[in-house]
Amino acid sequence: MRKKVIAANWKMYKTPDQAREFFREFLPLVKDHDRDEIVVCPTYLCIDAAVNSVNGSCVAVGAQDLHWEKEGAFTGEINAAMLAAVGTTHVIIGHSERRQHFGETDDTVNLKLKSALEAGLAPIVCVGEVLEEREAGLTDDVLRRQCLRAFYAISAKKASKMVVAYEPVWAIGTGKTATPQMAADAHTIIRGEAAKAFGQEFSDGVRILYGGSVKPQNAKALMSEAEIDGALVGGASLDPKSFAAIVRY
Ligand code: PEP
Repeated sequence: MRKKVIAANWKMYKTPDQAREFFREFLPLVKDHDRDEIVVCPTYLCIDAAVNSVNGSCVAVGAQDLHWEKEGAFTGEINAAMLAAVGTTHVIIGHSERRQHFGETDDTVNLKLKSALEAGLAPIVCVGEVLEEREAGLTDDVLRRQCLRAFYAISAKKASKMVVAYEPVWAIGTGKTATPQMAADAHTIIRGEAAKAFGQEFSDGVRILYGGSVKPQNAKALMSEAEIDGALVGGASLDPKSFAAIVRY
């Protein structure tokens, strides 16, 4: 039985004070919750506030991106070792908003994945098709390509902490949600690519999350699907009550 991961992506929202305020309300609502892993990914600026707030609780803190180099002249960037040094345990890689607005490619996803694993972080690798690709019947091909290139030249041993998130781009922040069956079909494709890259045993154990307008109202139906191993939640994770309701689906 794979333990589910419920992860929050706060995108570019909240100041450190607002992050602290969130955790003051959220932590009592999920006290002693050990059925699922809970991860909150704030902006870099709020990581310190988040790490201090969750200390001693069941909640982990992740970042939303990283640079793959160990150090250098890369203005504005943060690397994996820096994230680990401030108490971050997870990192989102290849989110569609990074692919769409910031030039993220399948190749940079692969470089970032390798450097996160090297630093001992648990990467949450995002894949998913845009609406035109789904309508053209290309969803499976897109997922296969994204996974093949993300997982390139990484061993199963190194990848052990990796989590994948299937995020159909047309469902992110739109209020549209993939049906549990649509998500399950996509997850089966992703699991198949994980088997090719890392072997059957790895593939049976890797957690594949669904992301795209997950809300308290639809969390239970999605999480009841055997192929869905958790959720990556954007908008509905900003409010402590709403995110707690999703965690406790
Ligand atoms: C996301 O940011 O990864 C996401 C799934 O956003 P939302 O839940 O708002 O669709």
